[in-house]
Amino acid sequence: MRCPFCHNADSRVIDSREADEGATTRRRRSCPKCGRRFTTVEEAVLAVVKRSGVSEPFNRSKVVAGVRRACQGRPVDEDQLQLLAQQVEDAIRATGAAEVPSNEVGLAILRPLRELDEVAYLRFASVYRSFTSVADFEKEIAELKARPSQAAEPSASGPPGTVTGA
Ligand SMILES: [Zn+2]
Repeated sequence: MRCPFCHNADSRVIDSREADEGATTRRRRSCPKCGRRFTTVEEAVLAVVKRSGVSEPFNRSKVVAGVRRACQGRPVDEDQLQLLAQQVEDAIRATGAAEVPSNEVGLAILRPLRELDEVAYLRFASVYRSFTSVADFEKEIAELKARPSQAAEPSASGPPGTVTGA
């Protein structure tokens, strides 16, 4: 592996240990040219299989891009998007599968997005779950209203019960 400091083409592994309960391997490396040390992390590639059968590595920034569109104009910041993408990746990796269908990635997005912003959730769900009528929205909104409120702690986005006219 190339040295990130002096870009020497080679480096030496001086220590190797498993982390995250064996899900990753961390290697401590030393550069023979500049003598500096750095760490690499090795983990299995999580593959996402599209409906066409094509598979590609799971990509957090794709999750962020999809969710960002749904969050336009909503009080959701970049850190929250990154955190959501991380939650999605963690949830998928926790299943232990080496590859997942792309629709499962969508499903894994829905749950944390609902906690983050209900309007963005509805937008995302409408595309993702192919809402075809107002009734689909009404049903989803009824479910949102019916679920036990987890907003017991004060929210930064405004007082509880605030109605947004979006
Ligand atoms: Zn070096």
